[in-house]
Amino acid sequence: MKKLLFFLSILFFVYQAQAQTWDWGGPVDPLQAKFKVLHYRLQLEFFPQTQSIQGSSTVTFEAQERLDTLRFQLIDNYTVSRVLMEGKEVGFVHQNDLLDIFPVDCTCNEVEIFYEGETPIAQDPPWSGGFTWEKDPSGRHWMGLSCQGEGAKIFMPALDHPNSEAQNGVDLYLTAPKPYAIASNGRLLEISEKENKNTYHWSSSYPINNYGINFTLGHFTQAKKEFQSSSGAKIPMEVWVLQDHETQAQALLEVLEESARTHEKYFGPFPFPQDKIAVVETPYLGMEHQTINAYGNNYQFEPMGKVQYDWLLNHELGHEWFGNKISVGDWADMWIHEGLTAYGDWLFYWEHGGPDAYFEKVKLEEAYIPHEKPVVSPRNSTEKTAYHPEIYTKGAMVIHSLRGVLGDELFFKALKAVAMEEEFAYTTKISTDAFVEFIQNYTGKDLKDFFQLYLYSTNLPEVHLKKKGKNQYQLSLEGIQFELPIEVKTSTGIQKYYLGKTPTLISSTSTPEVDPRGWLMLKR
Ligand SMILES: [Zn+2]
Repeated sequence: MKKLLFFLSILFFVYQAQAQTWDWGGPVDPLQAKFKVLHYRLQLEFFPQTQSIQGSSTVTFEAQERLDTLRFQLIDNYTVSRVLMEGKEVGFVHQNDLLDIFPVDCTCNEVEIFYEGETPIAQDPPWSGGFTWEKDPSGRHWMGLSCQGEGAKIFMPALDHPNSEAQNGVDLYLTAPKPYAIASNGRLLEISEKENKNTYHWSSSYPINNYGINFTLGHFTQAKKEFQSSSGAKIPMEVWVLQDHETQAQALLEVLEESARTHEKYFGPFPFPQDKIAVVETPYLGMEHQTINAYGNNYQFEPMGKVQYDWLLNHELGHEWFGNKISVGDWADMWIHEGLTAYGDWLFYWEHGGPDAYFEKVKLEEAYIPHEKPVVSPRNSTEKTAYHPEIYTKGAMVIHSLRGVLGDELFFKALKAVAMEEEFAYTTKISTDAFVEFIQNYTGKDLKDFFQLYLYSTNLPEVHLKKKGKNQYQLSLEGIQFELPIEVKTSTGIQKYYLGKTPTLISSTSTPEVDPRGWLMLKR
């Protein structure tokens, strides 16, 4: 019996070790509210044999007051060997995934943290993230990192909150044994060689989300071209693919170019013209890493009109606008990243497949919405609380419904205006309230009830249709306290009505069809 108990407890321990997950977001730590991160300089060496990293992170920050404690997140898997401020070692405590540093009488704005350790392994990337160490088809090392759900603390010390972005960007000095390359954010400034190692220096001066900071190691080759942006800028466009997949590189580059062009049409010019438009082949499906999107969809292109479409590539690229340029500071509003980007995917259908392909796609997606959880989560949500499938599909459906309410001309102008609004871009953050207020001001429409219904509740208006004598029908929407503009198809064609609780009389020789094109989410 004792033996069995011992065995069971070991099993439990193994299970616990495997199930270790990290979260981020929620209320801001009071110690971290006192400073802002301006820049991360990460110098890391990768050891594929032991799946470990070693190096340092130099954090430049700005504080309103003299700090007694400088608090970062860094998971306990890593060992911190020393911390320097103004060239002198300072005290620190590293426990419970927190790194508290104690500056001694200094007005410093920079700290260098030396650390090393075995990397946490992703359980189900990118949803349950971490490092993914794989072998490519030729048996060479291939490593990808995903951390949307975990934050940057799984690879570097960071002020790990969605509200914190390195305002002046990042510099990444990433060292790998030859012949491996490391693809990362921004521009590649230099590859320096030392003995049997290469160091890649990547740099970006754009603000960047913690989970957007990223690197992928592999035996890569590239295809490149210059992208002519609608802004007039010429932007480097690159795909980094495994050498085993060299023959696919050119086709992938063309798919990327078409996706970029289509996004620019609806969301405005590519937001990081000083850097690049790029994807890197990863050993997991994908993620929106700023200017180096993860691509792991195995070149499964599908024809759409005259062009080729890759849903994964298109989706992650859309995040350069919503997710990377326009970011939320509270995961409660995460639907703005996923819903707007998912809607961008539907627009690819509209643009290249035409109206039939678009409406068919919308119908298919809508059928899978369970209407179980509101799209917007409570304030100060963590990532794990706020992340659920409806932030994608219902989020996109809300934007589609908004289009139905506003009509195409006003809708497309408003959509581009949000995507290009300076108030939401780069250093600042967007919230659902700010989004709603912007749309209302821009369109001059009162849409509060509309957004309240679809973003904050799981209720759906119920269609009530009754026959009232010959060729007369009575139509109402139950379950809402306001009127929604809805198309109704009668024997004389499609007309828009404002429907609510008060019944509306409609004449038709055929049974009226409510919302025949499927603009709105309704209980029918
Ligand atoms: Zn996404």
